[in-house]
Amino acid sequence: MYISLARKYRPQTFSEIYGQEVAVKILQNSIATKKIHHAYIFSGIRGTGKTTAARIFSKSLNCVKGIVPDPCNECENCKAITSGSFIDFIEMDAGSQTSVDDIRTIKEKALYPPAKGKFKVFVIDEAHMLSTAAFNALLKIFEEPPPFDVFILATTEPHKIPETVQSRTIRIDFRKIPKKDIVERLKIICEKEKITISPTALELIAEAGDGSLRDSISLIEALWMYTGEREITEKDVEEVIGLAPSSLITDLVRYTIKGDTKKVDEITQKIIEKGYNFKKVCKSFAEYVKEICFYLDGIKKDVDWKILSIIDETKIKFEDALRLINSTLKFESDLSFSASEELGFKMFFIKLCYLKRIKPLKELILNLKNNSQQLQSIDGKKIFEEIINYLKSSGQILLAEEFSKLEWNFSENLLKIYLTDNRVKRRLENLKEEIESYLSSIGIEIKIAIQNKDTEVTPDLGDEFELISPKQPENFDSTHTQKSKKENIAIQEEEIW
Ligand SMILES: [Zn+2]
Repeated sequence: MYISLARKYRPQTFSEIYGQEVAVKILQNSIATKKIHHAYIFSGIRGTGKTTAARIFSKSLNCVKGIVPDPCNECENCKAITSGSFIDFIEMDAGSQTSVDDIRTIKEKALYPPAKGKFKVFVIDEAHMLSTAAFNALLKIFEEPPPFDVFILATTEPHKIPETVQSRTIRIDFRKIPKKDIVERLKIICEKEKITISPTALELIAEAGDGSLRDSISLIEALWMYTGEREITEKDVEEVIGLAPSSLITDLVRYTIKGDTKKVDEITQKIIEKGYNFKKVCKSFAEYVKEICFYLDGIKKDVDWKILSIIDETKIKFEDALRLINSTLKFESDLSFSASEELGFKMFFIKLCYLKRIKPLKELILNLKNNSQQLQSIDGKKIFEEIINYLKSSGQILLAEEFSKLEWNFSENLLKIYLTDNRVKRRLENLKEEIESYLSSIGIEIKIAIQNKDTEVTPDLGDEFELISPKQPENFDSTHTQKSKKENIAIQEEEIW
């Protein structure tokens, strides 16, 4: 009969449990020092070895050779526990067995001494799903626990277990198993089973298992069946778990950095149509950009050739890569709140394309001095062009185009914009303050008035306008101004991203 890999390679001793050194040490020491508590909570995500540890713990308590930290696995009792036929090892699933009868059975069983071993071990899986009545019954037992009972409440959600129960138990946390430990274990299994697999495929599987060894082993098994006799490759893993191919992600990285919206539209469309998981796409995207950052910063020297080719082709700067990664990570956590995931996903990457067009902070600050000096000679045309640039660089390409067609007039530090389209007018009205503060940040202190083409109305400029002198004061303190300008730009960048 075929035995699944997860079962075949289920650890039978504490030393075989991977990546849970702390939990194992607590259990082994409590046996070695004979400090056996009547109730434990084993908490942790699925597939981290909670019920496996419970079984081994039970063997340690019931091994014919005595209460030992390393059970023999050969005696009658050990073997019975392994095969699941030991009368004093009672396993139940709280998800499906919560009826009054089930609880009554536990209560009755808990009262009678073990038949074969020294301890009666109750393992309640998914214990957080027990009913209130069941928890109350457990509390009754815990108040005066028979000396031969040991309860193990295994759970993925320990916070759902009532405080009163928690305070009467010892909690042992099973952590997510580190990726390198999973890879190591998978390697051993593959060698024993003569499964050929590429190192990158192995890494991908461990990554997909997300800290669960059991899930990773099951995945290898599925892939083994999928590929038959041949080697398991990275591509196979992607196909079986529905991951977007890495070539698609690297293309997405490449064209996003280049700002090629057409290509990015095509790639995101493909991702949407194939039904790839958006969160995983964002995660892989961020991973690749992280590699770029590490390489550019010099933290990492040996990166994948795909990364190198992107760096080479796009000439991306470290600051830009950092901004890309920050935006992506933030977006990934927002994704579940988006009204339309598909639209949100696509538009996010389109927006990232404009990242490059936004001038880096450093460059803007370096330009400040020049701009301040040019102030006196600045004319309306220059200001007008500066506004167009600003609109473009903040991603408002269409508005910038509309704007460039408008008529204007500049005198006495007031730029009047004339237009007829009410839609454009409304958008500009909304942006007016933002544009003024941007201009101010690059040393152009003016006001903007937006008005209909046929009506000449004096705009309400408020008191502030009266205070602005047409020329820069003679004792112009550039350092002080630069500081506030710097803050201004920082705020703007924040708003855009
Ligand atoms: Zn034994």
